[in-house]
Amino acid sequence: MSVPITQQSTILAKYLDLDQRGKILAEYVWIDAEGNTRSKCRTLDKSPSSVDDLPEWNFDGSSTGQAPGHDSDVYLRPVAYYADPFRKGDNIIVLTECWNNDGTPNKFNHRHECAKLMKAHSKEEVWFGLEQEYTLFDQFDNVYAWPQGGFPAPQGPYYCGVGTGKVYARDVIEAHYRACLYAGVNISGINAEVMPSQWEFQVGPCEGIQMGDQLWIARYLLQRTAEEFGVKISFHPKPLKGDWNGAGCHTNVSTKSMRVPGGMEVIDAALAKLAKRHKEHLALYGSDNDLRLTGRHETASMEAFSSGVANRGASVRIPRSVAKEGYGYFEDRRPASNIDPYLVTGIMVETICGSIPDADMYKEFARESTD
Ligand code: ADP
Ligand code: MN
Ligand code: MN
Ligand code: MN
Repeated sequence: MSVPITQQSTILAKYLDLDQRGKILAEYVWIDAEGNTRSKCRTLDKSPSSVDDLPEWNFDGSSTGQAPGHDSDVYLRPVAYYADPFRKGDNIIVLTECWNNDGTPNKFNHRHECAKLMKAHSKEEVWFGLEQEYTLFDQFDNVYAWPQGGFPAPQGPYYCGVGTGKVYARDVIEAHYRACLYAGVNISGINAEVMPSQWEFQVGPCEGIQMGDQLWIARYLLQRTAEEFGVKISFHPKPLKGDWNGAGCHTNVSTKSMRVPGGMEVIDAALAKLAKRHKEHLALYGSDNDLRLTGRHETASMEAFSSGVANRGASVRIPRSVAKEGYGYFEDRRPASNIDPYLVTGIMVETICGSIPDADMYKEFARESTD
């Protein structure tokens, strides 16, 4: 007979306390064909002192839609590692890039091209801050804590809500926040969103390629934390039709010269470049984003690029404080919650800092969508 779930965790705790005899557990995480994370674990003999100490590994790509059955090995190349908040101790979470057997990057590995652009423009010290919005569902795929077969009262009291009936699942969010801090993710804040059971966390500022790395790990940690509560996480940009807010991933950006007096001119020049590539950017800003970018619910329509100070109905917003001081950063409000941050930060740097001969983010995206 199985024991009640409440007792199971007490039993497990006994085993988690056992001495690991110096061995390290390394959870290798990768990005799959659906834009979710997957992971598997291996034992290491000692703690790495840099990412170069971590062995390359592989997985069966035919089980994840990332490789054909007759040539199924996909290789996992470690690129960064973090403290593991679940296993604790010296155990680690390892972020990896996926590579094919023939030495080419796997078609869902957008980090590789992005990293080239970030490296080429490292002198610009590009900082990003991503605002990841997401929605909670229960195990039966109902929005978490919504009345069965019905809807909660209309939006209004829920954004940054306090009190019973105004905010849901604070325990999940709080646990995730601590997990990020423990792991060393540069999480900068959290808030409850406009739609009940929708939340946001922010990661940043992070420089260059670190932005994509840290956001992916923060998402992984969120899925893992929510799993313990039996809660599902959706990154869909319009999880519910009707008068409910969609979910985005606002992308805050600054270069070194934007962050010093006179920076406003550099920001204006960047916005002029963004306006010219509106359609190409939108193509990389997440799937089903057309359901969200309607011109309602604090979004701009997809039709044309727009920008404005303190305007939450524009494609790009310049925060009031930035306009006042004359330097700082801007916020691209177009990206959807389900973006690959490597595509978004990559094309951003390509557009505002300049393209480079051996990387093209738009082609990179087309590579995925055509085959
Ligand atoms: P909003 O007012 O749009 O809700 P948030 O406070 O949620 O903004 O998020 C702002 C994000 O911008 C944070 O992740 C923060 O770290 C980031 N950020 C702040 N300053 C800069 C900067 N100079 N360059 C890039 N990102 C920045
Ligand atoms: Mn925000
Ligand atoms: Mn938000
Ligand atoms: Mn925002």
